[in-house]
Amino acid sequence: MDLSGPAPQPQLAPFLIEPRFVGRVWGTRDLRPWYDRTVNDDSEPIGEIWLTGDECLVASGPHAGLKLGELFEKRSQALLGPNAPSGESPLLIKVIFANEKLSVQVHPDDKLAQKYGQPRGKTECWYVLAAEPGAQVAAGLKPGVTLAEIREGIQAGTLEQSLNLLAVAPGELILVDAGTVHAIWPGSILLETQQNCDLTYRLYDYGRPRKLHIEKALEALRLQTHAGRVQPKVLPDRTILIDTDYFRVERIPVKATRAGESLPDQGEPVPGLAYLFAAAGAGQVRGLSFEPIDLQARGIAAIPALSPRFVVEDLGSLDLIRITPNWPK
Ligand SMILES: [Zn+2]
Repeated sequence: MDLSGPAPQPQLAPFLIEPRFVGRVWGTRDLRPWYDRTVNDDSEPIGEIWLTGDECLVASGPHAGLKLGELFEKRSQALLGPNAPSGESPLLIKVIFANEKLSVQVHPDDKLAQKYGQPRGKTECWYVLAAEPGAQVAAGLKPGVTLAEIREGIQAGTLEQSLNLLAVAPGELILVDAGTVHAIWPGSILLETQQNCDLTYRLYDYGRPRKLHIEKALEALRLQTHAGRVQPKVLPDRTILIDTDYFRVERIPVKATRAGESLPDQGEPVPGLAYLFAAAGAGQVRGLSFEPIDLQARGIAAIPALSPRFVVEDLGSLDLIRITPNWPK
């Protein structure tokens, strides 16, 4: 018997993550009915709900109370599987509630982020959970806009005129790849999936007193990118909303119950970490070897790569979004 190989990793059961409510100047003081949360006029409004930040707490199972980032340090193999290039948490998933316009900003790509000492840049995408009629976001620049015009627009406060505006409707997905000048405007509620990186360079902030990073933003931005609405791919057992170098986002019909084995797509080589987000309704994730976990509306569960067998049950109108990291080739 060969005893030299690595010991098999123990399994890690699916678990809930507690959302973190993060204050932002452009946010909202009443998150109902999306989250049962209000803040009074003296506190900063809530702009972002972090669903998978390193500081988010594990909310069920034997690791409850641990920060997600700490769990990645302890159990990265069990969480990510054998194919991950690093043990760090790869994806940051948020829900964005904008009551005012966010800054006009850009994120660096991996190469530029590494130049500034960070492990990765930030490509992100927005899945539209809700939108008022006429709601818009800005994703990229109008064709033909030059760097000189961008500099001028920042000085004159007219940068908005150079932005490519997109009308958004519920169910749509918009890619914002690294280097894309972008801004979220009020009128929609977005599920944002992004590389786990906090480098944001602001070009313009509507006169708010926050720091701008114009030179770095000009270095990071690209006049043309792949940003824009992504055509969904409808398959018999799922709809692939996006499948990029960094992440894949799918809408998964559960019907009554659905076995965990059926969640990975046939195209996925070795199933790794997956997050299950309830865009609406409620569900339960259960298996023989762990306590069932209840997925509430707008809640998120992590399904580790080395999860024991489980099923997902629809407890009523469950609209399930599955988010998985991809590794760039
Ligand atoms: Zn952004």
